[in-house]
Amino acid sequence: MEKDLNAPIQYIKGVGPHRASLLGRIGIKNLRDALFYLPYRYEDRRVFKKIALLRPDELVTVSGRILKADVISINPRLKILEVIISDGSALLKAKWFNQPYLKKNFKPGIDVIFYGPIKAGFRGAGVELQNPDYELAVEDEGDGGVSATHTGRIVPIYHSTEGLSQRQFRNIMNAVVSQYSAAVPDFMPNEIVSRYRFPNIAESLMNVHFPKPEIPVEDLNRGVTNYHRRLAFDELFTLQLGLALIKKDEASEKGITFAPDGRLASKLINKLPYTLTGAQQRVVKEILSDMRSSSPMHRLLQGDVGSGKTIVALISMLSAVECGYQAVIMAPTEILAEQHYLNIHRLVEELGLRIHLLTGSRKNKEYEAIASGQTNIVVGTHALIQESVVFAKLGLIVIDEQHRFGVMQRASLRKKGLNPDTLIMTATPIPRTLAMTLYGDLDYSVIDELPPNRTPIITKLLYESQKERIYRMLEDEVKKGGQAYVVYPVIEDSEKTTLKAAITGSEVLQKMFPKITVGLIHGRMKTAEREDIMRRFKEGVINILVSTTVIEVGVDVPNATLMVIIHAERFGLSQLHQLRGRVGRGGEQSFCVLLCYGYGEDSKRRLDVMVKTSDGFKIAEEDLEIRGPGEFFGTKQSGIPDLKVANLLRDGVLLEPARKEAFTLIENDPALIGFPALRSSIEGFWGSKIELFKTA
Ligand code: ADP
Ligand code: MG
Repeated sequence: MEKDLNAPIQYIKGVGPHRASLLGRIGIKNLRDALFYLPYRYEDRRVFKKIALLRPDELVTVSGRILKADVISINPRLKILEVIISDGSALLKAKWFNQPYLKKNFKPGIDVIFYGPIKAGFRGAGVELQNPDYELAVEDEGDGGVSATHTGRIVPIYHSTEGLSQRQFRNIMNAVVSQYSAAVPDFMPNEIVSRYRFPNIAESLMNVHFPKPEIPVEDLNRGVTNYHRRLAFDELFTLQLGLALIKKDEASEKGITFAPDGRLASKLINKLPYTLTGAQQRVVKEILSDMRSSSPMHRLLQGDVGSGKTIVALISMLSAVECGYQAVIMAPTEILAEQHYLNIHRLVEELGLRIHLLTGSRKNKEYEAIASGQTNIVVGTHALIQESVVFAKLGLIVIDEQHRFGVMQRASLRKKGLNPDTLIMTATPIPRTLAMTLYGDLDYSVIDELPPNRTPIITKLLYESQKERIYRMLEDEVKKGGQAYVVYPVIEDSEKTTLKAAITGSEVLQKMFPKITVGLIHGRMKTAEREDIMRRFKEGVINILVSTTVIEVGVDVPNATLMVIIHAERFGLSQLHQLRGRVGRGGEQSFCVLLCYGYGEDSKRRLDVMVKTSDGFKIAEEDLEIRGPGEFFGTKQSGIPDLKVANLLRDGVLLEPARKEAFTLIENDPALIGFPALRSSIEGFWGSKIELFKTA
């Protein structure tokens, strides 16, 4: 019999339209969805306890024969169902509150298994069970004996949906799994299954939902049984197959073959007050070799804050300009775009080139110069994507801090050129395994070396009572000729929170230090005003810059040596790391002070990590663990399909083999002619996203 896994879940006995809609809310629309909706934990309900030995406050499984079942009305709003059972050692009362309709299930003389919490009885009278899970011996007759679902076995616990009890949910899952597991096509090439000694797919599904008794419960709870692994591997393999296909496809595209002569780039390099680090030189080489090739570049450049990505980007852009093309760098915020502009425009103009800044608040000014090709380099925000922005000859796109851009935005920018080369820069250090997933179709360069003579930043955690120390530090740094940032979580005071705010903060500081110039910058200011403040801070006219997180990324003022973060407990780890990265950019000793007004467990952990390390990779790993992969990356933005079974942290070890197998397979059989089932499984998994994702 052909079983269609795409059949609506309503197809299952006991699931009517109402329950189907409840299930739909947690993404279970059809039978396949249900099969791959795994329990999030398991309970071992196999050991039966003698009733005579029960003590309050334990979770137990007991079995016995029903002696009687009565509904007692305590008052109009409270009805209690009491069921008394005996296992020969003693009697036990089980109670349910306001579920009188359950009574019909408990016919005297029937054997039953209960699982639930033991409580001291009313007024200390013995013990009783409250709202236990139950299993009736008659339920599964016909199968030749009790095959328990809710008790007497290792029981799966699901994230259920409102309106469906664990028990009802489990019954539905039991029906789906027992009837349809075997209908799931096993698309994995046999060779791979046997290479990793994987169990088959039906067996895996059955055992992750309703495990056989010999599987250790701890392994189940950690999600590391062979059955879990098999399912996770399938998912990661499908993901990697999609990436391999995208990459293959991109490689066959025709892009621009740049032939830069190095004229502009070497002029720039000669002007720099420093020499490029080995890592920067290596990465420049990698980029140039991509640019020289005929297929379009899709390269990810990763480098911790302060590793010197900007100059690498600029060298790449000049290489495009040398060949008569335009280059653009897109940043996620106006401040950052402005900063890039401020940092590079003089260098660029000294080379006799034209550069323009294009952000939301500066529209319409430079369109003609860009369209006519007079402009060589454009720095901007997502405003670059607007239809009215037309390029004469766009050859290279640099996207800074890419995790903030959606896939669609990147796609629209690329369409403004003729298959331009794309360089994506990120300062979020990503563990290798994750980079392979998230950016699996991109080539990968990393600047793994900081410019020399950097003194490590000293980070301190201070509390409200130690505020005086911060004032003294600010004063000292400025006296020594340094500059400071003071970052606040919000712009202005409000009745809704007690959070300290930037505007008030800057006023307080200015009053306290009349001889020092305190500046203020935040996202609600006009661009011109902000540019002016940033320029004055860069020139050293402003000593202390009070701000919100607008300065989080990219801002580069090497003379700034002190970063104070107010309400540090409110910020995420990567955010704190980014903020701290604004100092320590020159040769002087820099400090970061985290001022904290009380914290929870997670924020304490974040702050401790900050004090302990400044290694971006370690910080990213901790961040990932604290927040989980979904939130860490914002999967919606990344364009990667959601993973249902695999967990990138837990199943990291499977990623590398999954990738290797997938890429080898696509190498040998790019159209998957020998594996039609695989093809459709990729389509099912990636859906329209495979088109989307390709555009990164
Ligand atoms: P990020 O990778 O965070 O974008 P930047 O490109 O802003 O880093 O560079 C940080 C600082 O280091 C800047 O002041 C830049 O001028 C400086 N810098 C970059 N490369 C070098 C180098 N090779 N030697 C010394 N200083 C450098
Ligand atoms: Mg940068």
